[in-house]
Amino acid sequence: MTLATKPTILILGGGYGGMVTATKIAKQLGQNDANVTLVSKHNYHYQTTWLHEPAAGTMHADRTRMPISSVINESKINFIQDEVQEIHREENKVTLKEKGQVDYDYLVTALGSVPETFGVGGVFEHAFSKWTVNGAREMKDHIEYLFAKYNNEPEPRDDYLTFVVAGAGFTGMEFIGELSERIPHLCEEYDIPKNKVKMYVIEAAPTALPGFDPELVEYAMNLLENRGVEFKINQPISEVTADGVILKDGEEIKSKTVVWATGVRGNPVIEQSGFENMRGRVKVEKDLRAPGEDNIFVIGDCSLMINEETERPFPPTAQIAMQQAETVAVNLKALIKGESLQEFKPDIKGTVASLGGKEAIGIVGNKKLYGTSANFMKKMIDNRYLWILGGAGLVLKRGKNPF
Ligand code: FAD
Ligand code: NAD
Repeated sequence: MTLATKPTILILGGGYGGMVTATKIAKQLGQNDANVTLVSKHNYHYQTTWLHEPAAGTMHADRTRMPISSVINESKINFIQDEVQEIHREENKVTLKEKGQVDYDYLVTALGSVPETFGVGGVFEHAFSKWTVNGAREMKDHIEYLFAKYNNEPEPRDDYLTFVVAGAGFTGMEFIGELSERIPHLCEEYDIPKNKVKMYVIEAAPTALPGFDPELVEYAMNLLENRGVEFKINQPISEVTADGVILKDGEEIKSKTVVWATGVRGNPVIEQSGFENMRGRVKVEKDLRAPGEDNIFVIGDCSLMINEETERPFPPTAQIAMQQAETVAVNLKALIKGESLQEFKPDIKGTVASLGGKEAIGIVGNKKLYGTSANFMKKMIDNRYLWILGGAGLVLKRGKNPF
C-alpha cells in the first residue's frame, strides 16, 4: 500500500457481524478513504436468530432473509457473492471458491459458526444441524413430508411422528417451542390424532438451559410439557443413527427427525487458515484483532472473549457480534487515519428466548420476564436489530408485530 492508493477493507461474511461492520464503515469513511468489499456465500443476508421459526414451519423462510444489495450502500461497498476458502495472512490475500484470490489491507472475519458435535457420531449423516435458510427449509419440508406419509403406510410408523431435539440450550428450546405450536395444526391438516406425536428434548447437563435463571427454566419446561414435550435431562446423546438416537445409558429412541442443537464452533475457515483457535474461535485482543495480527479483526461466532466477571467465554450471540462490529468500524477508521484503537466493551443487555406462540422467557437488566411481556420484548429485540442495520425503513418493511 502506498500513500497515494486507497487501502482495501475486506469483510468476510454477510451475517450480523459482517453486515453491521459494512453499514457502519460506509457511514464513517468517505469514498476517498478506502475501498470496501463484502464477501458472502449468498446474495442475501439472513437472520440466524429467527431460523427456529421457518425450521418448524411457523414462518416462511423468505421472511428471514433480504437481498444484501437492499441493505448496503452499493456506491460505497462492493459485494462479491462467493465462498471463502482460506485466509493467507502472510500475503494479505483470501482465496474464494469461484473467483480466485482477493487482496486486502485490512480484514474483518465474520464467518459465523458451524454445529458442534463433541465427537458424537452420525450427526452430519442423520440429523438436521444446518441453522441456515436452506437448512430451515429442509427441516420444515421433512417434517411435513412425514405427516403426509404417515397415513399412507400399511403399518403405523411411530418413528415418523417422533421428533427429537438434541440439546436444551436456547436453540433447542426455541425450536421445540415453535414445533410444539405447529404440531396441532399439522395433526389437523393430515388427519392424525395428536396423541400419536412424540416430542423429546434431550439434554446432557443436569438442567435445561444450563446457567440460566432456574425459575424461568421451570416456567419454560412446564409450558412445553403442557404442550406434550418430554424432557430427558442429564442424558447425553452418544450416537445418532439412521433409526434415531442412542443415549449414554443405552436407551434408543427411534425417530426419523433428529434436530441437532448442542452448540457451535467457529467457521472451519479459521482452522484452515492456521489461526490459533479454540473450537474454531480465535481468542481476540481487546481491540478485536487476532493475536499477532495488526490488520485482521475477528468478530462474532468466530471470535472468543473471556468475561472477566465469570472467567468464562462470552456465549456466541448476535448481540455481541453486532456490538463488536460497531467497535471494528471505529477501529478500522482509526487504523486508516493513524489514530489509536478502542477496546471492545460488551454491554450485555440480557437474554430473551421465544417459546412459540405468544410465549417467551427472558432477563433484561435485572428483570425477569415471561409470557406475553417476554414475547413483546423478544419481538422488540428482533426489530432493534433491523433498526441498527437499516433504520426505521427496514423495521417497517421487515419487522415483527410485537403484539
Ligand atoms: P452469522 O450471523 O451466522 O453470519 C455468518 C455469515 O457468513 C452468513 O451470512 C453465512 O452465509 C456467511 N458464510 C459462512 N461461511 C462462509 C464462507 N465460507 N464464505 C462466505 N460466506 C460465508 N443470538 C442472540 O443474540 N439472540 C438471539 O435471540 C439468538 N437466537 C438464535 C436462534 C437460533 C435458531 C440460532 C441458530 C442462533 C441464535 N443466536 C442468537 C445466535 C446468533 O444467531 C449468532 O451468534 C450470530 O448469528 C453470530 O453472528 P455472526 O455474524 O458471527 O455469524
Ligand atoms: P448452547 O451451547 O447454548 O446449548 C447446547 C446444549 O446442548 C447445552 O445445554 C449442552 O449441555 C447440550 N448438549 C451438548 N452435547 C449434548 C449431547 N451429546 N446430548 C445432549 N445434549 C447435549 O448452544 P445453542 O443452543 O446451539 O446456542 C448457540 C449460541 O447461540 C449460544 O451462545 C446461545 O446463547 C445463542 N442463542 C441465543 C438465543 C437467544 O438469546 N434467544 C437463541 C438461540 C441461540
